[in-house]
Amino acid sequence: TTKIKTDIEIAQETKLKRIQDIASELDLLEEELEPYGHYKAKISLHALKRLATKQDGHVILVTSINPTPAGEGKSTVTVGLGQALHKLGKKVMIAMREPSLGPTMGIKGGATGGGYSQVLPMEDINLHFTGDLHAITTANNALAALIDNHIHQGNELRIDTRRIVWKRAVDLNDRALRKVVVGLGGPTQGVPREDGFDITVASEIMAVFCLATDLQDLKRRLANMVVAYNVDRQPVTVADLGVEGALTLLLKDALKPNLVQTVEHVPALVHGGPFANIAHGCNSVIATKMAQKLGDYVVTEAGFGADLGAEKFLHIKARMGGIEPKAVVIVATIRALKMHGGVGKQQLASENVEALKKGLANLEKHIETIQAFGLPFVVAINRFITDTDKEIHALTTFCEEKGYPVSLTEVWEKGGDGGIDLARKVLEAIENTKSTYTPLYELDEPITDKIQKIARIVYGASDVSFSDKAKKQIEQFTSFGWDKFPICMAKTQYSLSDDPTKLGRPTDFTITVRELKPSIGAGFLVALTGDVMTMPGLPKQPAALQMDVDELGNARGLF
Ligand code: ADP
Repeated sequence: TTKIKTDIEIAQETKLKRIQDIASELDLLEEELEPYGHYKAKISLHALKRLATKQDGHVILVTSINPTPAGEGKSTVTVGLGQALHKLGKKVMIAMREPSLGPTMGIKGGATGGGYSQVLPMEDINLHFTGDLHAITTANNALAALIDNHIHQGNELRIDTRRIVWKRAVDLNDRALRKVVVGLGGPTQGVPREDGFDITVASEIMAVFCLATDLQDLKRRLANMVVAYNVDRQPVTVADLGVEGALTLLLKDALKPNLVQTVEHVPALVHGGPFANIAHGCNSVIATKMAQKLGDYVVTEAGFGADLGAEKFLHIKARMGGIEPKAVVIVATIRALKMHGGVGKQQLASENVEALKKGLANLEKHIETIQAFGLPFVVAINRFITDTDKEIHALTTFCEEKGYPVSLTEVWEKGGDGGIDLARKVLEAIENTKSTYTPLYELDEPITDKIQKIARIVYGASDVSFSDKAKKQIEQFTSFGWDKFPICMAKTQYSLSDDPTKLGRPTDFTITVRELKPSIGAGFLVALTGDVMTMPGLPKQPAALQMDVDELGNARGLF
């Protein structure tokens, strides 16, 4: 047997084209391309204005079943489908999120796809890339510093130092920073108070950044962010502090989408990367819209399963950005379906058709959800080499009997060639089925109704229970006029319910909303269920242990 190449080996063996050569195939003026070295470039927002009246490309949204530790491969399929459409002669753009260093150095690894379906240079994209995450971190912490300084200088806004909701941020998994005390050391060192850190990708600035449609809209959203409550319990915003201009300035270059290429030189915009739990889990609206101007087809991805990322794409990003997908790809793996059917992580390599059949209930729920939104879909089986013919047969037969379009994809192993069938079926879905995108709730419904609808229709819950705190907050938010926003559910990604141990398709369960968090700048209300991590910790064996760099500066051990 031949040795299977690692992602980074494949990446480093690929001869990249200069980014100017990738851009020259696109409808871009020379001055709209801002190269960052040889293989990365930012695209000026001027291009978006210039192409404003051009017809938008069709958006294809890639989502998946509930993730398991077995891995699903959404990013891999996103890149692979883009490459396959390119092989079919379509003008295609890929739009993906930027990875965060937290997961990259923790358990999950990077987020640039895998095998022969990766965006490159993966070392750069997974590490510092073009500095967007640093800019976002800096804007976040500049605001924190300005709040503390405001209090130190006399606190004209009468901020209640016990009710500051703005936290500091760093783009690392660092559990020791979850709760900290700042301002220690006497009167000249500021006012002591409890504070904490979130990982940058969980910060509201990241969400704001990804939903903004241009610089002005970014500034408006930043101005609306609530940072604290004053002694009368009224919200204090960035506009009250008068620093939205400074924050926007810090983000002006970051806001331009980043152009890179795949293993097969297909153009990809990799831009913005909010978590899919506390935030909406999609790349920036600006990048998706830019991709729609530069390509006839745009393959994009939303984080976690269809109950989180896709639901938020369809209720938040689609509505705010005016981006309606024409088709959805639901990624499933035999391995993950077997886990949903009760198989433990250690037994995944052995054939188990019965468990697979049991696990299909999870896939079916997500299919029903996409149908409820009125969107055509294709199920993509992301093939692993351990999958047996019997297992694949069981999965395809299930789909065929139900009339669900399904495609066995081998984009990890074969690149675009492994996704031709999927690409054809997606094109067929776009051409033959009318997408009648319908949100499951309207913005002017009461907060509780919106949450009920998501829980019942998307998760299959029988009811929602609201804690006393949540009930009080709903009253208060409604009195502040914050009840017209969409809801951003914060829920475990592993289960359709709010209990991560309930795999498959749980029934007869209640979702408990413990607390709400207003993200007024982003323009949504976060409803927190279960324990949601906004600053993850590192595992016992972090991926960082494998990382190294040789004497020539080549990265090792990234995946
Ligand atoms: P997701 O986007 O769902 O989190 P990724 O596409 O990032 O998943 O894939 C996670 C990891 O799994 C990557 O390291 C990738 O190389 C690996 N992977 C994905 N698909 C396959 C496959 N078919 N066979 C083997 N490994 C795969």
